[in-house]
Amino acid sequence: MNMSMKAEPSFRESVDLMFNRAVALMDLPPGLEEKIRVCNSTYTVRFGVRLRGQMHTFTGYRSVHSEHMEPVKGGIRFASSVHQDEVEALAALMTYKCALVEAPFGGSKGGLRIDPRQYDEHELEQITRRFAYELAKRDLIHPSQNVPAPDMGTGEREMAWIADQYARMNTTDINARACVTGKPLNAGGIAGRVEATGRGVQYALREFFRDPQDMAKAGLTGSLDGKRVIVQGLGNVGYHAAKFLVEEDGAVVIGIIERDGALFNPQGLDVEAVRNWIVGRGGVTGFPDAAHTAEGSVVMEEECDILIPAALEGVINLSNAERIKAPLIIEAANGPVTAGADDILRQKGTVIIPDMYANAGGVTVSYFEWVKNLSHIRFGRMQRRQEEARHQLVIDELERLSADTGIGWTLSPNFKQKYLRGADELELVRSGLDDTMRIAYQSMREVWHENDRVDDLRTAAYLVAIGKVASSYRAKGL
Ligand code: GLU
Repeated sequence: MNMSMKAEPSFRESVDLMFNRAVALMDLPPGLEEKIRVCNSTYTVRFGVRLRGQMHTFTGYRSVHSEHMEPVKGGIRFASSVHQDEVEALAALMTYKCALVEAPFGGSKGGLRIDPRQYDEHELEQITRRFAYELAKRDLIHPSQNVPAPDMGTGEREMAWIADQYARMNTTDINARACVTGKPLNAGGIAGRVEATGRGVQYALREFFRDPQDMAKAGLTGSLDGKRVIVQGLGNVGYHAAKFLVEEDGAVVIGIIERDGALFNPQGLDVEAVRNWIVGRGGVTGFPDAAHTAEGSVVMEEECDILIPAALEGVINLSNAERIKAPLIIEAANGPVTAGADDILRQKGTVIIPDMYANAGGVTVSYFEWVKNLSHIRFGRMQRRQEEARHQLVIDELERLSADTGIGWTLSPNFKQKYLRGADELELVRSGLDDTMRIAYQSMREVWHENDRVDDLRTAAYLVAIGKVASSYRAKGL
């Protein structure tokens, strides 16, 4: 059958199809499968804000997919394309994502139907605060019930407004700051949250490339060094993932796809320069040192080693999946590959590192931020100098022994400097994130390699995540 004749499932249908594929391989008690799959609730709010002399009505959503653990967690998206089905699909992915990386949350997601570029900062603040007010008064923003975070179209600035709005409404709540994550450092945020999702993509790839057997499944060998990468979407996630892969792992970014077309240069693109160009001019058009294609999506079909879709859902679908040449796709975005495209790619032998794992770095560091807010102390504050003092003892003793015994060892200044430094918050966050990404990968990998009926990482990830949600339900006696 011609694949293009098949109907493309919606994002939400895609998530359900992938879920169903996995549960068919499980032995869940009757009824539990449906209980886990369905979205528990979606609150829709329409509110008015007086702007430019007239009333403007906005529509927002907050979906709670699963409350098997509370608070529930998930970002708030600002985009004109936001709709209920999308928010519900994203909330479901949050449930599985949190379960997979062992962040102790249920899944939720919010969305506001708005094009943020149409409003100035002051207007956006009024709109965000009003939306936050509507959600907070129903406990849909709450440190122990529902903790939002950034997503597409939102960032630190919006999270600071939300946190402040909640604090104004709950003046005696000592844990008010834990009502939202992704805040700026000076408003209760944590070091490393902005780049966390991109960093997580890097750690995920590093873990994949540690295993020759896994690499072989994608027909790849060697290390990340020199691997050709194409990135679709150079927003917060795509930019950080590309930057770290180039600067720290030696990968070469040969293609970048943006709203207004794509850049391609087989010799490698300067990620920082492209990002600055986009920030300054609103797009990639006119960027020197690269070929520009107005029809950006065709660049996703170029030969490369790793394709990183890092923007919207559904960009790899029935219309282009057959032509995607990358042997390895890592889903930095949520839902970039539709269920139909997933079937085609799986048959072709393409290895897909699935969204619920690949982009879990964001929520993982959100978890650390929430813990930091609840404990009211920066990570490392108590231990750092003590750690340094103990390391100094070792160094002093080594140097004394070396002098006393006449061995004459000298420790290299570089080693001494590195060894003596106690870990600060950023280092601890990175260590916690790396550990999380490694452990979650291994849990998926085990199922991928050991279950004969599982031939892809996505199904493996669903199996692990659903298994964890199911055991939470069982522990509650449900
Ligand atoms: N919006 C991000 C995601 O899709 C982060 C969610 C969070 O930190 O709660 O995973």
